[in-house]
Amino acid sequence: MLDETLESIFDEVVRTNAGEREFHQAVQEVLESLGLVVAKHPEFARDKIIQRICEPERQIIFRVPWQDDSGEVHINRGFRVEFNSALGPFKGGLRFHPSVDLGIVKFLGFEQIFKNALTGLPIGGAKGGADFDPKGRTDSEVMRFCQSFMTELYRHVGEYTDVPAGDTGVGMREIGYLFGQYKRITNRYESGVLTGKGMNWGGALVRNEATGYGTVFFLAEMLAVDGATLEGKECLVSGSGNVAIHAIEKLHERGARVVACSDSDGVVHDPDGVDVELLKQIKQVERARLSVYAERRRSARHLVGSSIWSIRAQLALPCATQNELNGSDAATLVANGCIAVAEGANMPCTSSAIRVFHDAQVPFGPGKAANAGGVATSALEMQQNASRDSWTFDYTQRRLEEIMSNIHRTCFDTAEAYGVPGNYVAGANIAGFAKVAAAMNALGLI
Ligand code: NAP
Repeated sequence: MLDETLESIFDEVVRTNAGEREFHQAVQEVLESLGLVVAKHPEFARDKIIQRICEPERQIIFRVPWQDDSGEVHINRGFRVEFNSALGPFKGGLRFHPSVDLGIVKFLGFEQIFKNALTGLPIGGAKGGADFDPKGRTDSEVMRFCQSFMTELYRHVGEYTDVPAGDTGVGMREIGYLFGQYKRITNRYESGVLTGKGMNWGGALVRNEATGYGTVFFLAEMLAVDGATLEGKECLVSGSGNVAIHAIEKLHERGARVVACSDSDGVVHDPDGVDVELLKQIKQVERARLSVYAERRRSARHLVGSSIWSIRAQLALPCATQNELNGSDAATLVANGCIAVAEGANMPCTSSAIRVFHDAQVPFGPGKAANAGGVATSALEMQQNASRDSWTFDYTQRRLEEIMSNIHRTCFDTAEAYGVPGNYVAGANIAGFAKVAAAMNALGLI
């Protein structure tokens, strides 16, 4: 529920950003937590900090023309929304997916402000992408698209200005093509302009695994509050992309068993535990559909048209996409004995799903806290680029685990301090907002 001041701010956001449904949803979720902060800090309302945070510093929309292998011309739309740079250079991923529009990029960029603040590292919030579908495209088509995309984007980014990374549809292959084009245009080997790079051209160990691993570290911290561990727990992990695969890998390493994962065509149910190496081979090497997994593994079944959330398990990690888990899915999970939920994806649970988890007192870790390990490790990659250094896997993973533990502690303690113990959504929103708001106030009217 929003109080009168916050309600009118929200109405104004809806009015001035018409049709941007996901952006409205992300703003509403944050505003619902801020009543308590505004009561404690009336200066934030007086100085219109909330209204300023809801308005991006800069929004760039551009044409991306490219040719496919047969010579046909295609035109896509590219976006970069530079939302807030009070804490550091803009930072946030690029998403290539046909569903990408301004509203999606703004919701992701808005979330990114608070997520980046929670990491404790000096990075502002941004997001970008294009409505390009890399699925089924050859390497040379993807390369030409990336080169055309960067031909416009290069003028807006830079290691001290804006540092993009990957997201859905943008992995190391795409980052390579983007970095190569940036280097050609600028004549600078500016490693710090993009993160998620390959190891022999400026990348950092653990960055690729970081979002999935970090989500599991956060989940382990949530369980530890009640004296529980991951050991022996059955889990559902939606998606089968970068975040899902590495979440599954780390869950198995910590003694849990992932019994199902998914892609946009269906669900794989594998009661013996998902075979991560086979999954990597199919999704990352062959770039094939998940149905192939079930063809190659006897213990697995491929289910089309049924929800992954109807499978019985104790832990749920939505790692695919926004709004993939609704109120009725949440009710099913709770009825089936789910004891904790951590979001690997951005805003995968609808508002009504979150309400169901809160009402049932099922600990719920929101994406802006639970999946912050990816961007945190990106910031570690920037540190290594700046010092021309390269850290070991173990050292970087230890840093990641420490950062996730600190984020958990910050969210947990903030929720307690504001009288909503155990509410990680409020804890994350309040702690992230307070940090950005204080910096904005210190920097004058920005
Ligand atoms: P990705 O590698 O492109 O994988 C996305 C996966 O989700 C694919 O397996 C995709 O299947 C599946 N998927 C998409 N829509 C689905 C649906 N409606 N139902 C079931 N599965 C669906 O992307 P990613 O990097 O793992 O990102 C996943 C989520 O994590 C996104 O919300 C992203 O914003 C968030 N995130 C990513 C990072 C990062 O470092 N990569 C960091 C923070 C947050 P198809 O192959 O069929 O499309």
